[in-house]
Amino acid sequence: MIHSTPRLRFAPSPTGPLHLGGARTAMYNWALARSLGGTFVLRIEDTDRARSTDESLQIILQGLRWIGIDWDEGPKFDGCGGGDFGPYFQMQRLPRYLQAAEQLLASGHAYLCFCSPERIEGVRDAQKAAKSSFLGYDGHCRDLTAEQRAAAAATGAQPNIRFRMPAARVMNVHDLIRGDVEVNTKELDDWVMVRPDGVPLYNFACVVDDIDMKITHVVRGEEHFLNGIKQQLLFEALGEQCPLYAHIPLILNAKGAKLSKRDPGVMSVLEYRDQGYPPEAVFNYIALLGWGFSGDRDVFTRDEMVAAFQIGNVGKAGAKFDADKLHWMCGEYIRRWSAEQCLERARPWLAKSVPEQALAQHGTWLQNVVACYQERVAVLSEFPAKIAWLFADVPALDEAAQKNLAKHEGAKAWLSAYADELQGLNLPPSYPADRSAADRAVALPSKKDAPEPVCEFATPAQIDAATRAFTERIGAKFGHFVHPVRAALTGTDKGPGLFDVVFLLGKEACVKRLRAAAAG
Ligand code: GLU
Repeated sequence: MIHSTPRLRFAPSPTGPLHLGGARTAMYNWALARSLGGTFVLRIEDTDRARSTDESLQIILQGLRWIGIDWDEGPKFDGCGGGDFGPYFQMQRLPRYLQAAEQLLASGHAYLCFCSPERIEGVRDAQKAAKSSFLGYDGHCRDLTAEQRAAAAATGAQPNIRFRMPAARVMNVHDLIRGDVEVNTKELDDWVMVRPDGVPLYNFACVVDDIDMKITHVVRGEEHFLNGIKQQLLFEALGEQCPLYAHIPLILNAKGAKLSKRDPGVMSVLEYRDQGYPPEAVFNYIALLGWGFSGDRDVFTRDEMVAAFQIGNVGKAGAKFDADKLHWMCGEYIRRWSAEQCLERARPWLAKSVPEQALAQHGTWLQNVVACYQERVAVLSEFPAKIAWLFADVPALDEAAQKNLAKHEGAKAWLSAYADELQGLNLPPSYPADRSAADRAVALPSKKDAPEPVCEFATPAQIDAATRAFTERIGAKFGHFVHPVRAALTGTDKGPGLFDVVFLLGKEACVKRLRAAAAG
């Protein structure tokens, strides 16, 4: 039996950026809360004061919002948060933890431990030296008498508060992902709940908060599975109902080892943002790290995920991070945008190579420019370098372009004759002239078998036909001719269809580039 309204939480420690694993944990909690019509809480576990920073907190909040996760209760940020179960920062809840600790001390489920850190270290070293199967606190202060406690306190020793683990009890725990698991509590020691300075440790604060915030389902990383056992015993000791638990498996690298930030392609969530990964693609990819949407579809919206999400369908085995698949996913999203959407999404990156004037006044042309690359980029930050050739006076030739120019004897003569040929064609004008009539009439990239657009200028198909006729006239093989021409026009050997390139560059720029390469 659980409380009637589903309430889930993501409880990050603000000790570093939001990584893929954290984002996935947040997402699965969020999706389950949304699919059950419940509440999603964001709780900040900031009791590690040495490592918690406001900077990390901001990065986590921004990262969650960037991938499209919102929270009903928690820190107020970007329209999210608030709520009646706060404060949602653990360091603002210290009196409540002490109150719960008092209750446990009074009921005998907890005790004061006066052991010094040196003694505890000594016990551990001895256990290690003896190759003991049990590593942990030896229960030295478990049964101190009132006099012994008073004597210890009189020495000035500051006690930790420890939880009294039940001796060797076999617990049958149910996990929504792992199923039924048997654990013997003898493997676990009497753990510290509260430090002498009154600051609680994770397992204790987490349970008190899960109780106070009426959490019904706990979805988190597999590394917390054993903590879950300690926590269940604590719920019991406090006379409270345990939430349902789901421990999600690790994310693995290509070699099947635990994913680390050093693995290729792994970045924090905001780094993906800064490199121009579409957030919906990152969301979609993260959702698939351990969960499947349907047998035949990998691309889905947030709403579709929520509608389909079931925690029991999360796999038990580790999910492999595959940077190539993430790139593929990004490309899938970028390709689905209209040229207009693509330009708007790419705009923040374009300024690196696109003049301000073009961005402000030549939107129709830029739409055609970016549309020619929609099939050719995976992340938006690739755009500026890919399209820089359009804005050069005469593009610098890369190695491949130089080779293509040098390959055929007579290539330079072809270029010069082709410049004359283009001079005679009715090509659109070149940027910065207004060429919006051409770009409005012709939607690039040109597609085979598409109806011929009505345009007052020569269309890519007409330029293609004229060029084929021209190569026949001058006796050049079309297949040979196109390579030096592309080299001269773009400075490289890759890019959109050649006649889309000619159309985009327009007459003056094409003629200038062909003549420059012919003379070079
Ligand atoms: N603060 C813990 C972490 O970041 C939360 C674990 C939990 O969800 O209980 O790993």
